[in-house]
Amino acid sequence: MARVTIDSLRKEYDVGRVVAVDDLDLEIEDGEFVTVVGPSGCGKTTTLRMLAGLEKPTSGTIEIGGEDVTDVHAKNRDVAMVFQNYALYPHKTVFENMEFGLRMSTSMSKEERERRVVETAEMMDIDELLEDKPDELSGGQKQRVALGRAIVREPDVFLFDEPLSNLDAKLRTTMRAEIQRLQEELDITAVYVTHDQEEAMTMGDKIVILNDGKLQQVGAPNTVYNEPANRFVGGFIGSPSMNFLEVAVEQSGDRLMLDDGDGFRYELSSEYSTSLPVGAGDSVILGIRPEHIFPADGDGIETTVKVVEPVGSDNYLYLDLGEDVDEFMARVPADFKPEPDECIEITLADRDIRLFDAETGDSLL
Ligand code: ATP
Repeated sequence: MARVTIDSLRKEYDVGRVVAVDDLDLEIEDGEFVTVVGPSGCGKTTTLRMLAGLEKPTSGTIEIGGEDVTDVHAKNRDVAMVFQNYALYPHKTVFENMEFGLRMSTSMSKEERERRVVETAEMMDIDELLEDKPDELSGGQKQRVALGRAIVREPDVFLFDEPLSNLDAKLRTTMRAEIQRLQEELDITAVYVTHDQEEAMTMGDKIVILNDGKLQQVGAPNTVYNEPANRFVGGFIGSPSMNFLEVAVEQSGDRLMLDDGDGFRYELSSEYSTSLPVGAGDSVILGIRPEHIFPADGDGIETTVKVVEPVGSDNYLYLDLGEDVDEFMARVPADFKPEPDECIEITLADRDIRLFDAETGDSLL
């Protein structure tokens, strides 16, 4: 069992001036593929390096398979790490690179090591490359070798630090699928760090979102997308990003109305109005995804189109919602293509609306 339990894990640098990881709690189940995502400097790599034993936590504990490994040396932890820059030994062949970890960490016989390397190389489709040196390989091949070297050791936990960042877009997609296939086939526990929210969403059973060293939300991709815990998660997950608008809540008969005071007025249904934890007089942040803004034919919110950006299947419309709103975008079907400066009507649906606390940014729903 390779369940990983992280408890109040903290890492400070520069005598506490930088808090890279701020009291992180996290549970990773055996066989689970967890992606860790967040903007540059949010503490992703530091977290991974503490799991690997390459960085000593300031406080907190890490358990792997029920054993407290917080003070266990990296080479005595049953984890394998795959890096962005492959970290292959340039003077060793592919075979030697893959065999090296086995030699270091086990007392396996030479024959057994050879059998394992060849078997893994076949699985990774790099068996033709075993005699080559790393500089004879393409980026994609190098990353396969780096993966093979991790897999051959059959560790309890795999740690991936942005392993696909150096590959071109097409190869990245292929390798993503490959890693997912291997993960399912080998039923491995994996922690996969990426700054790419799309990669995190497509690969993870569970996504961990960090910002500023702090945990923002943990959940299945659908959950963090549809029910973001706060404004940061709403804006970070999903592309193009969620739109935000500061609105006042007003009473209109038995319904609530959201009004930005600059032409955006949206009336919620009476059922929805009563179920919301907000009332007249409150000021909140409305969050709405671009794909949840629909063209309306009368009775909608009037707005002017600033820019139309065709992206093939859809058009992105940049809408003018007054001076105080930097960007408000709608993603509409390609056959709806207004002209710039055209006045159009838009509408929303109650169920797609997210509301955040104007002060804390926490979700109110
Ligand atoms: P990126 O996506 O850019 O790799 P990250 O999310 O992996 O970023 P970390 O590398 O974990 O972020 O860094 C978290 C914070 O800790 C940053 O503010 C960084 O500057 C700081 N930091 C990391 N390593 C050190 C160090 N050795 N000494 C001082 N500060 C450090």
